[in-house]
Amino acid sequence: MSIYRWALSGFLRRGSCLLQSNVTAASRHTTNLYTRRRCFSSSPSRSLMDTSNFTSTQLEVREAVSKLCSQFPDEYWMERDRKEQYPHELHAAMVRDGWIGIALPEELGGGGLGISEATMLLNTISQSGAGMAGAQSIHANVYATQPLAKFGTDQQNRDWIPDIIQGRSRTCFGVTEPNSGLNTLALTTTATRSGDNYLISGQKIWISSAQVATHMILLARTTPVSESPKPTHGLSLFYIPFKPDNTTLTLTRIPKLGARAIDANQVFFDSYIVPADSLIGTLDAGFSYVLHGMNAERCLLAGEALGLGYAALKKATKYARERSVFGAPIGSRQGIQHPLAKAWMGLEAAKLATYHAAKLYDEGVDAKVVGTAANTAKYLAAEAAFEACERAVLTLGGMGYSEEFHVERYLRECFIPRIAPVSREMIMNYVGERVLGLPRSY
Ligand SMILES: Cc1cc2nc3c(=O)[nH]c(=O)nc-3n(C[C@H](O)[C@H](O)[C@H](O)COP(=O)(O)OP(=O)(O)OC[C@H]3O[C@@H](n4cnc5c(N)ncnc54)[C@H](O)[C@@H]3O)c2cc1C
Repeated sequence: MSIYRWALSGFLRRGSCLLQSNVTAASRHTTNLYTRRRCFSSSPSRSLMDTSNFTSTQLEVREAVSKLCSQFPDEYWMERDRKEQYPHELHAAMVRDGWIGIALPEELGGGGLGISEATMLLNTISQSGAGMAGAQSIHANVYATQPLAKFGTDQQNRDWIPDIIQGRSRTCFGVTEPNSGLNTLALTTTATRSGDNYLISGQKIWISSAQVATHMILLARTTPVSESPKPTHGLSLFYIPFKPDNTTLTLTRIPKLGARAIDANQVFFDSYIVPADSLIGTLDAGFSYVLHGMNAERCLLAGEALGLGYAALKKATKYARERSVFGAPIGSRQGIQHPLAKAWMGLEAAKLATYHAAKLYDEGVDAKVVGTAANTAKYLAAEAAFEACERAVLTLGGMGYSEEFHVERYLRECFIPRIAPVSREMIMNYVGERVLGLPRSY
């Protein structure tokens, strides 16, 4: 189904004339753009990302989402960041127009599209100025639900997925633990069967959006390492109701550098009871399921990083054209111009890697091939975005350090894709060992 038709059917269902006219206008705009093949995106205001190699569906996603995000200007995000207020309005708008379910099955109310289009969705949200905060307000619901749709039973999918798509349920993703860090196989949170339930005990950290979540996709140990035939065995994936009660489930918010609109939390489970049918797929096989979601997550994060980088570069080039010192625009000085040109080329190269990885994921090629491509893309996009954000702050000089010009916010947020969901160093390890065949260093 065309994404416009799909989004439009959502508008018609809720009878919104205002936004419906936006989509129709966006559709007309898209048609024009196809008839004269374009090189650079020009919607709704000129962006720097070359869009010549995208599919028509990706471009349609980009057009419609740009329109939607234009209702949330930079000032909205600056304010949310300053006050640490969740961007509920963006999430509601995304639900209303059907975007949460972009990569979930059509028969469950989703868009039936792939991670290539979902990456474009997150890329566009971030690029609008919403940055990582905007993207993070929906992204777990897009990527972490992939294992649910693939490995859940028909009944589970019917019970859970429509609620996620329609915003009645919101999920957070619970993998990281304080003591295991990037060594996921060493996680110690347990799920112990007790009659018709599981009892969850342990601690998670850095869980985004847990304050607004109704559910968590949880990775927990169900068989002790000592009894597992291999380290990847014995972990199980759950989709659990998430109801903090101050006794068996408690949350503590973590103050942080950037994307402050989105809460990050420590989560403590103490014999927290969840129904046994929260288990996704086969007991003890959760690690492979979570990897499926993680490859999607790397693609989306790469898209988000790119968005931030292009947004920063756009602000920097505008400023460099307009700001005159020593009798000429600073953008005419090679000391300013060349680093910006280099940052753009870095983003463009990372963009090709990102959409290549997403395409491989959607084509269902071997998971190891996808893993390499997705890790590579995430690394390159995060580094390119960092370079662009840093250059933007430096281009604006003192104004780059001011809240008012937004690039300092972008720079703060830009550390996230460098650290999460997997760090730069662990990607280097992955490529060193698995691609180059070098000895394991740890
Ligand atoms: C804003 C934010 C949001 C997040 N949201 C979520 C979420 O919703 N859900 C979730 O589960 N997690 C989330 N995370 C957690 C994130 O995935 C982890 O922080 C990330 O995986 C890094 O793990 P760690 O912090 O434990 O680092 P550690 O494992 O403690 O590593 C610390 C440093 O040591 C390096 N290092 C470790 N081992 C090696 C090695 N063998 N070789 C070389 N270097 C090494 C790492 O690269 C890193 O630089 C979030 C994190 C952030 C910052």
